[in-house]
Amino acid sequence: MNDNKANNEPDVVLIGAGIMSATLGMMLNELQPSLKIQVFERLDMAAAESSDAWNNAGTGHSAFCELNYTPEKPDGTVDISKAVRIAESFEISKQFWSYLIKNNIIELPTSFIKNIPHLSFVWGKDNVDFLRKRYGAMVECHLFDDMLYSENRDEIERWIPLVMHGRDSGEPVAATRMDLGTDVNFGALTRSMFNYMQDKSDVRMHFSHEVRKLRQREDGRWKIKVKDLQTGEKRNVYARYVFIGAGGGALPLLEKSDIPEGKGYGGFPVSGQWLRCTNREVIEQHRAKVYGKAAVGSPPMSVPHLDTRYINGKRELLFGPYAGFSTKFLKKGSFLDLPKSIKATNLRPMLSAGIKNLALTKYLIDQVRQSPEERVEALKDYFPNARAEDWELEVAGQRVQIIKRDPDKGGVLEFGTEVVSGANCTLAALLGASPGASTAVSIMLGLLERCFMHRMNTEEWQKKLKEMIPSYGQSLADDPELLERVRSYSSEVLGLVPAVEKK
Ligand SMILES: Cc1cc2nc3c(=O)[nH]c(=O)nc-3n(C[C@H](O)[C@H](O)[C@H](O)COP(=O)(O)OP(=O)(O)OC[C@H]3O[C@@H](n4cnc5c(N)ncnc54)[C@H](O)[C@@H]3O)c2cc1C
Repeated sequence: MNDNKANNEPDVVLIGAGIMSATLGMMLNELQPSLKIQVFERLDMAAAESSDAWNNAGTGHSAFCELNYTPEKPDGTVDISKAVRIAESFEISKQFWSYLIKNNIIELPTSFIKNIPHLSFVWGKDNVDFLRKRYGAMVECHLFDDMLYSENRDEIERWIPLVMHGRDSGEPVAATRMDLGTDVNFGALTRSMFNYMQDKSDVRMHFSHEVRKLRQREDGRWKIKVKDLQTGEKRNVYARYVFIGAGGGALPLLEKSDIPEGKGYGGFPVSGQWLRCTNREVIEQHRAKVYGKAAVGSPPMSVPHLDTRYINGKRELLFGPYAGFSTKFLKKGSFLDLPKSIKATNLRPMLSAGIKNLALTKYLIDQVRQSPEERVEALKDYFPNARAEDWELEVAGQRVQIIKRDPDKGGVLEFGTEVVSGANCTLAALLGASPGASTAVSIMLGLLERCFMHRMNTEEWQKKLKEMIPSYGQSLADDPELLERVRSYSSEVLGLVPAVEKK
């Protein structure tokens, strides 16, 4: 192949250099190193949107502490099925990351993952009753059987002193604790993966390159129009497979691809802000991720939490996110993103979901207009002695929630992630944002099973998949012994040695 052809006719194009493209690129490169892969990223570095450590909460979502993953059913019992799925997915991610470490593909584990106890904390009788029930349901499953539960104020104070000091002593409180919880710097992880791939002769990274259009040609290849944002030069690239891993920018590109499967989707942007602690003395007094219950009317992903983080080798403390409304689809996007995404094909679902979610829109607008004093009041629910002068406001990443056509309701708003594929699975796009980065490996395995089925079934790929993810093809939720084995393996490789509290 001449050089010009190699430049313009890769096998796979990945649009966007966030954790999703990095994970897919890395897997494809390991499964078939001869594949020619090109990555196009509009910004001048990888992982500068949602995947950057300051733009997300860095929670290794294992469903240990996130109460929105375990809803209460009308009969009063707690449904843990979603929590089981998410916990299993995170174990799969940890196995893949362990493979990358073991094979010297990415840097030392402490640069991106650390043990941090995950706690749920609630107050008020009804919430305490709920947490007790949730705990009862969770510990029945081996994925969660290390969970601790307490209504004892002294014990909870030992676990999370900042949360308990200054709290009304007449109020019932309860907490659960999982020492196996983690904080993950998804930005550092993403950059490590791209750094490795960048050195491969068959992988090319193009920063400051924005994908403007894409269209399938008669021969099945995708014609992708790319603009170099530094020189202004435009060119076409022709690829057999395209993955739109453009985060909030995925919906407009899916619309441009014109695949029938993409019609009817819309996006509902939710922005975010954090309070970041600037007082080192305070930061050092907290070592946990503490998740509470979402306020009535708020979207599920805006559950407030007080989080220890490890970013750039430093311990940090964040509270939030405070959700908000903005018409941008990316943090570094345009206010025209939302209006430009409205087409004849998604107008009805968008209007219908919009009308049904007016209360949510109002809630988000009210959140944006909160005064600094109101934000500190919300923080005091979790840290009663907080002082405004110890905290500053930071802008978090942007999430675009999925709006989908619905035969009965016209359109529905969803809070998960979805892979939309078409044109014989030569194009796939990831929409939505939650639980997101933590489950990137399972999401990409699902995409490979769908779009590279013929190769996934070969002995060669199956063998490699087992090497990358030892539990591949088996259920961790059904097999306690397998879970124990893969958990110990990844904990050892990733250096996750929790300071375990005894039951
Ligand atoms: C406030 C907040 C908190 C979160 N907390 C957590 C958490 O605790 N745990 C967790 O697991 N997940 C969390 N998430 C979700 C997680 O951050 C995302 O799921 C994940 O980062 C998405 O990765 P991505 O690669 O799809 O997108 P991104 O990281 O956003 O990357 C997409 C890239 O595509 C680029 N791009 C866009 N359009 C184009 C174009 N036309 N051409 C070229 N490039 C383009 C963008 O510049 C960007 O770099 C959180 C998200 C937010 C916003």
